[in-house]
Amino acid sequence: MTKEYSVPAGVETAVDGVDLEIGESEFLSLVGPSGCGKSTTLRCIAGLETPTEGEILIDGEDVTAVAPNDRELAMMFQDIALYPHMTVVENVAYPLKVRGVPKAERNERAEEAAEIMRIDDLLEKYPGALSGGQRQRTALARTIVHDPRAFLMDEPLSDLDAKLKVAIRKEIQRVHNRVNKPTIYVTHDQAEALSMSDRVAVMNDGRIMGLGTPDELYHLPGNRFVASFIGNPSINFVSGSVTAHEGDTVVVDLHGTEIEVDTVGVESAYEDIEIGVRPEHTHLARGGEEGHVEGTLELVERIGDRRLASVDTVEGEIRILVPDERTPAQGETVSVRFDTDAIHVFDGRTGEAVAHGELSKRHVENRSSDPGADRSTA
Ligand code: ADP
Ligand code: MG
Repeated sequence: MTKEYSVPAGVETAVDGVDLEIGESEFLSLVGPSGCGKSTTLRCIAGLETPTEGEILIDGEDVTAVAPNDRELAMMFQDIALYPHMTVVENVAYPLKVRGVPKAERNERAEEAAEIMRIDDLLEKYPGALSGGQRQRTALARTIVHDPRAFLMDEPLSDLDAKLKVAIRKEIQRVHNRVNKPTIYVTHDQAEALSMSDRVAVMNDGRIMGLGTPDELYHLPGNRFVASFIGNPSINFVSGSVTAHEGDTVVVDLHGTEIEVDTVGVESAYEDIEIGVRPEHTHLARGGEEGHVEGTLELVERIGDRRLASVDTVEGEIRILVPDERTPAQGETVSVRFDTDAIHVFDGRTGEAVAHGELSKRHVENRSSDPGADRSTA
């Protein structure tokens, strides 16, 4: 679907030919920078906006012209907007009241939803007396009470503090696992998207730039945009050249090291390339070890049990995750080494990925053969 808006300067294309299918019990995130069209996509699915072109189907039925309330979707937004003059149970039951469900049944189902959300001890309280977390749980209970066909959530956590965010994130996943309905979750936070989703759609400028499991997007990004948007600290880009190209293999020269990499079958002249290497595959060369590029250690920051070193090189800033035991001194001249089996090769003109290192491919293959490798701990 495509959604255009008329603006004083002409036409603003908010969503530009997005084509997506969400599976029965799938949790899918739309992620991308601010203004890329996530909310507009979701609002079109919800029926709050009408696409300029294209259609929305639910269970094969075209609902493009169906009113929002009749689509039987549950929505949750950043501003949770509980009715202040209604108790928790009345708030939770409200979607049923709108649908004309009799009071006794309404209350029974609201109590059930409240129990799932563990707010059954708060039923007679008013929103003003609730904590932020309790308000979010009430809002979640209200979304599940009418047994919707799918859940749509637009940055529901962005107003919460870090601790509450993690708690409500878990609640959303618990509810998803329990009700097992398709969920489309919008966020600008790639870490949030990766940790919660079965699949992630990375958007930019109204388009889907990448669609896949978190592992696929992280280890086998299809283009430079996805590679740089996914992952924190972000991927390093360094220059390189192709010295030979035979069949499905190219030989890449990375600062004097020749690396043989399998291509992914994308058309490319291999004349102008760029190489991406993630910070965890970038190292400070130890004594005697040969590095690929030299630089000055600018900054060392702590990230959990590791440190992030920023090195100023001829390639610009290179980010390296270093183990805790080693603390290089700031201002020191250091040598940087890349894991040559974990490189990504991008066409310099189109930004498309043309080859991925062996290690990256193994990461994804190992994961897909291990269904227990979920992301509940990510
Ligand atoms: P996101 O949710 O990814 O931040 P949006 O979907 O809200 O992005 O917006 C996508 C683009 O469409 C932005 O450039 C935004 O300014 C524009 N846009 C959204 N809604 C309207 C509107 N009602 N009128 C004009 N432009 C809009
Ligand atoms: Mg938005």
